[in-house]
Amino acid sequence: MTERAYYDYIVIGAGSAGSIVASKLAAYDSGMSILLIEAGGTPDNTKMWIPSDWFEVLQKCPEIEWGYQSVPQPNLNNRVIQLAQAKVLGGCGLHNAMVYVRGSKSDFDTWGKVAPGWSWNDVLPHFQKIEETMKVLIGEADEFINDLFTAAKQYGLPYNPNYNTSNSQYGYALFQFNITNSPNFIRETTYSTFQPEQYQNVTVLSQAFVTRILFEDTKAIGIEYVKEGQQQLAYIQNEIILSAGAIASPKILMLSGIGDENELAKFNISVVANLPEVGRNLHDDIFVSAGFSISPNKDVPFYSYSLAPAVIFSHTENSSSVIDIESSVGVGTLKGFPGLERSFWLWPNIMHLKSTGTVNLRSRDPDDSPLIDPGYLTKPGDMQMCKKALQLGIDIGNQPGLSQWREKQIAPEPGADLESYIRKTADTTQHYCGTCRMGVDENSVVDTELKVRGTSGLRVIDSSVFPLSITANTAAATMMIADKGTDIIMSSLQ
Ligand SMILES: Cc1cc2nc3c(=O)[nH]c(=O)nc-3n(C[C@H](O)[C@H](O)[C@H](O)COP(=O)(O)OP(=O)(O)OC[C@H]3O[C@@H](n4cnc5c(N)ncnc54)[C@H](O)[C@@H]3O)c2cc1C
Repeated sequence: MTERAYYDYIVIGAGSAGSIVASKLAAYDSGMSILLIEAGGTPDNTKMWIPSDWFEVLQKCPEIEWGYQSVPQPNLNNRVIQLAQAKVLGGCGLHNAMVYVRGSKSDFDTWGKVAPGWSWNDVLPHFQKIEETMKVLIGEADEFINDLFTAAKQYGLPYNPNYNTSNSQYGYALFQFNITNSPNFIRETTYSTFQPEQYQNVTVLSQAFVTRILFEDTKAIGIEYVKEGQQQLAYIQNEIILSAGAIASPKILMLSGIGDENELAKFNISVVANLPEVGRNLHDDIFVSAGFSISPNKDVPFYSYSLAPAVIFSHTENSSSVIDIESSVGVGTLKGFPGLERSFWLWPNIMHLKSTGTVNLRSRDPDDSPLIDPGYLTKPGDMQMCKKALQLGIDIGNQPGLSQWREKQIAPEPGADLESYIRKTADTTQHYCGTCRMGVDENSVVDTELKVRGTSGLRVIDSSVFPLSITANTAAATMMIADKGTDIIMSSLQ
């Protein structure tokens, strides 16, 4: 009989969250054994580390992609949206745009109301802790950025010296990135920075695909996974931490018998815990695009960052203090840029949209991608918000401050119907979250200690536990959750 493989902890997924969880647990107690298990491997493509190549990496490195797609989206002309998710050591940190945005104070104070212990004052120390380790590089302005800032000022926005540390995110600012510059610009991921494999008590098992969590009654006892075509098992003494991301974490829970019992019954999966909200509340922001061709007498600026180093935060409701627009900026010289080389773009992300969606099983076969329906623009008011955000991009791009760069507005064509343009072109920002929602109410999937309700020995720590959407790209908050979540585990050991 082969000996069972036992670990104190098993962390599923070596992405933005899982790499931090495994490393912090390992550093806390060198006597503890940790298995960090990841479906992807080590990329052999050095391009992934070069920030300015990220668009190209996203399009041309299918080997690190899960290849998820949405179901056709009726409100986006029935388009199927490509939903990028990385399958690699480092997770989405290795193909994301690296921009670092904490979110607003009010986002987390609202979290604190539905998930006590997660309000701004509770989470701030964990953002600061992450920033001690992950480098945060502030972009540098050049002539184009200065002119863009002039245009934003002419539009009526204030300059914000630092959207992460100021009282409000409102205004135009230099973008911040998880990039090191020693001596060249290199992407940072939590895997490359926290380096879980440096700890002797961590076993990193890559190219190992977790198919199910095993239970004795409602107690998690181990995992089933496939490596090199062989089905294998690993067991725990303490806990399993699921950090597979906002699409795969609910999928793994459902395959393991945790989810809506009616859904599980369709696939003959025995119920461990009836938690109807597993895979519900999928939240994703969308972005719209305002494009301008660049005058023939100007050189197109080139940046060593993933995007132009500027961002504009604003709101769709003038009377509101809630920021719900984060406009990034692109130029055609970014490698792999999907448009004219001689062009610049404002890309307002629209946040706090009301529409949410679902992740459901397609079958009980773990190899099948889940059915993902982000439900874009299904709630009243969301289209209106997108139109206002697009109008902001158009108006700033047309300000006199940018006149020496702007030849003409190319998208949407001047006078075009904005609603039809949005339905034709709006796209995902890849900010999926909320599918294993944290809360104190009995319908939430995890409690405020990130334990899966109705089970023991199982927590979820990743972007799926966001109780509500935030005014930011999702990596910073995911890293914060990983830091705080691991502290919660460690405090339970004292
Ligand atoms: C293209 C793109 C651009 C983005 N740009 C930004 C940005 O600029 N700034 C920002 O803040 N956010 C950005 N985001 C979002 C951000 O990167 C994610 O929210 C964050 O990385 C999520 O972290 P996570 O730990 O939840 O999941 P991930 O980082 O996705 O980690 C999950 C890991 O689990 C592994 N896994 C999944 N299923 C299994 C299984 N069955 N068995 C074993 N392993 C498994 C995956 O392979 C993956 O490595 C972007 C996302 C994408 C996709």
